Amino acid sequence: NSNFEKLSKLYYFCVPTLCGLSSNLEVPYIIKAELLARYGGVAPKMAEEAHALVIDQVVQEALDKANLTEKDLTAVAVTIGPGLSLCLRIGVRKARSIAGSHNLPLVGVHHMEAHTLVARLVERELQFPFMALLVSGGHNLLILARDLGDYIQLGTTIDDAIGEAYDKTAKWLGLDLRRSGGPAVEELAQEGDAKSVKFKVPMKQHKDCNFSYAGLKTQVRLAIEAKRINAGISLASSSDEERQARADIAASFQRVAVLHLEEKCERAIEWGLNIEPSINHLVVSGGVASNKYVRARLDEVVKRKGLKLVCPPPSLCTDNGVMVAWTGLEHFRLGRFDPPPPAHEPEDAVLDLRPRWPLGEEYAEGKSEAR
Ligand code: ATP
Ligand code: FE
Repeated sequence: NSNFEKLSKLYYFCVPTLCGLSSNLEVPYIIKAELLARYGGVAPKMAEEAHALVIDQVVQEALDKANLTEKDLTAVAVTIGPGLSLCLRIGVRKARSIAGSHNLPLVGVHHMEAHTLVARLVERELQFPFMALLVSGGHNLLILARDLGDYIQLGTTIDDAIGEAYDKTAKWLGLDLRRSGGPAVEELAQEGDAKSVKFKVPMKQHKDCNFSYAGLKTQVRLAIEAKRINAGISLASSSDEERQARADIAASFQRVAVLHLEEKCERAIEWGLNIEPSINHLVVSGGVASNKYVRARLDEVVKRKGLKLVCPPPSLCTDNGVMVAWTGLEHFRLGRFDPPPPAHEPEDAVLDLRPRWPLGEEYAEGKSEAR
């Protein structure tokens, strides 16, 4: 329904068993227009209200689909960061209330660790140490996962993440934003000539594993202005010529955005193998890893380096509760969890939220090798 938008950012899930939980939860829909009108745009308070509106329903739906009740649970896992504290709080309160009522242990999960470790749910061969490229709306990370909870950050973005660049490109090209921008750009790019617009690959001169997408975003915006594309006219109503111009920009953007990933991944694999020669896999996860072109190009890089690519299915790459449940379970199995919270916790109890929470230490030698 065009008046509704899928609320995909619910980082909450229960951990009853390993299996039996569908990754395709039908997350409830909220009336975006109504919330937008009330807040005058997307605002943290709006995101908070959206979470609060659906939290009970989404948890119930998860339990129903797994044919379980709260009483059947063994533990509760919940994302405690990084992210917007207003939204994290909603999930953590709910998790604590379930755990408190049933005397269950609680596992606080790192959102990006969850994007990484879900790969171990789908690929049982995947052992530590391994490399991971995490590409999503807010992150662009190259990680060496040495062991559970032991990560080294080889690279990150110095400004925007690739998902943000996809989303803005979609918006400026006037694409249908009912889904997120990434899939819309990917689809349109298939009709375009990827070499027709000459965008510069970011950070060519930097000999490190960091990323930058702000400059590419600006290049795309200027190209759209130069071609006088009117984002107010939908793709469906645009002329054939205009549609082709939009597709050419989408394809050219995608080629360069992904080339940037390829170059940095290649270097990161070299760094990673120097630190841990037994690495066999590169995990690619996060929303952007659902993209077929991204997967195909990175598969080439990984093969050239003698490794294997592990890329979870799209439903587990974009935000989902299964990845949080699985990561909770990985920690739980090693005895890393908190005791049950009190059964009747006061509303103003201090919660362990980590809105800013790096995944592992920065690689020190990487800094000196930069440039
Ligand atoms: P983060 O994980 O950094 O906090 P997030 O949780 O908002 O960000 P995810 O759900 O992990 O994001 O990823 C969403 C991002 O992935 C959006 O920017 C979206 O455009 C992008 N994305 C999803 N599918 C595709 C696709 N097929 N091609 C390119 N980008 C995609
Ligand atoms: Fe995410």
